[in-house]
Amino acid sequence: MPTKTYYEKLAKETINIQSIPANAMDRIGIPVKELLKEEHCIDVHTHFFDTKCVNSSYMVMRMFKDMLRMRGDDESQSEHIIESAYNKSDVYTDDWNDKLFEILNEDNNARGGKTSMLLIVLRMTKMKQVYEYYIKDASLATYFGMPKEKVLTTVLMMDFKMGWNVEVGKSIWTQIQELKELLTEKPVLPFLFCDPRRADLPEAQENLYKVFNEAFANGSPFFGVKIYPCLGYDPGDYRLWPIYEICEKLGIPVLSHCGGASVSTAERSIAIFEGTKSVTIKGKNRKEVAYQLNDPARWEKVLKRFPKLKLNIAHFGSDRTWSSKEKVSSRKDPQHRKEVIMGLMEQYPNVYADFSYTITAPKASKNFIALLQENDTLRKRSMFGSDYWVVYQEGDLKENQAKFLDMVDDNEIVFDLCRNNPTQYLFGTSNGESV
Ligand SMILES: [Zn+2]
Repeated sequence: MPTKTYYEKLAKETINIQSIPANAMDRIGIPVKELLKEEHCIDVHTHFFDTKCVNSSYMVMRMFKDMLRMRGDDESQSEHIIESAYNKSDVYTDDWNDKLFEILNEDNNARGGKTSMLLIVLRMTKMKQVYEYYIKDASLATYFGMPKEKVLTTVLMMDFKMGWNVEVGKSIWTQIQELKELLTEKPVLPFLFCDPRRADLPEAQENLYKVFNEAFANGSPFFGVKIYPCLGYDPGDYRLWPIYEICEKLGIPVLSHCGGASVSTAERSIAIFEGTKSVTIKGKNRKEVAYQLNDPARWEKVLKRFPKLKLNIAHFGSDRTWSSKEKVSSRKDPQHRKEVIMGLMEQYPNVYADFSYTITAPKASKNFIALLQENDTLRKRSMFGSDYWVVYQEGDLKENQAKFLDMVDDNEIVFDLCRNNPTQYLFGTSNGESV
C-alpha cells in the first residue's frame, strides 16, 4: 500500500493548481455571468445525468421504487427487490435503455398511468436534453414568476463505475467534455465527482488527480466537487486531502450526499480509509453499511484539517432526522444527524446544508421551517435544492417545490434559501468575503 506522502507527491505533480483560475468569477461560463447580472434564483442541487451516464441496475431500481411509490430511503417493504436489482448481473449492452423503455412503457400503458420521469429520461442520451426538460417542466424560476430560464443550477455528477464497479455508456472523460460544452451554452455550474479510489487508477482519463486537472484547469473550468460517501468511502480519506486543500484555498465549493441510501455500495463489509487509517465497515445489509458511511460526523475530521472549506451537506441528513424538531442526544438515533450538521455550522463558517429531496416530506419540512424561523445560523446556512430528476419519484417536482416554499410562508426566508445563501456558498470566498 503506497504511503500518504506518495499520494501527496503524486497529487502535487498532477494537479496543476496554477492553471485553475483563482477567482470564482473566472471559473464560470458566459451564460452564468450574464444571469448573475439579472434577477434570478438558484437551485443548488440538480442532476442532469442521462441514460448513458448510468447503468441498467440504477434505472431498474428507480423503476421499482417508482412503481411501489417508495420514498428514497424507505426500503423496508421491498428490500429484496432492490437487492436483486443491485445484484443483477450487469452485462453492459449499448441498447439496454431501449429494452428497458419497452418494458416500462408497456407496463405504464397497461396501468394507464401518467408518463413517468424514468420513461422520459430513458429516451435521453445527452445531458443537455435532461437540462432542457428541467427548464420546461420544473424550473424554480416559475415559482417566482420569472422567465423559466432565469434559474442557476448545479450539475452534480454520479460515479457508478467506482461505486458499483460497472460500465456506463459515457466515460468520466466524455462526461467532462460534454459538460464543458454545456456550460458555454447554459447557466450551469458542473460539480465533478471525486472518488478517492480513483487515485489508484493509472490511466490518465480515469485517475482522480488527472481527471480533476482536466475538469478544473483545462479550458471552460468546472465549478465544484461532489462527494458521495455511501458509494463506499470515507469523506476524510487521505487521497482526497490534496483536493480539499485546493478547494479551501480557491473557494471551490464541495457538496456531499447526506441523505437516504437509495444509491450505495452493495458490499456488506468494506475497507475504507478514515484519514490514513484503514478501517473495515460492516453491516447486516446494504442499508446498514450505507447508513454508517453517510454519517455527517465523518466530516468533523475533514473540517478540523480544512476549517475554511465551503461544504454543503446535502439533503440535511434526510427526512428521518427531521421527523422531530426536538434535540436528540444519542448519537445512534437517526434524528441526531441534524444536530451534528448544525453543530458543524456553528463551529465552521462555510458549512451549509441543502434541503433537497427532503422538501417532499411534509412533516420534516414543517419541523425544519419552524427551526429556520428561530435559529439564525440555520437560516443563514440553509439552501433550497430540488434533487431533480431523482425527486420525481415523489411526484410532480413543480408542485412539490411550490408546496414547500409556500409552507415557508416568509418572503425573506424564501429569498435566503433560493438566492442569498446559495450565492454566498457558491461565490463567496473561503474567507467569508461576499460577492
Ligand atoms: Zn442528489
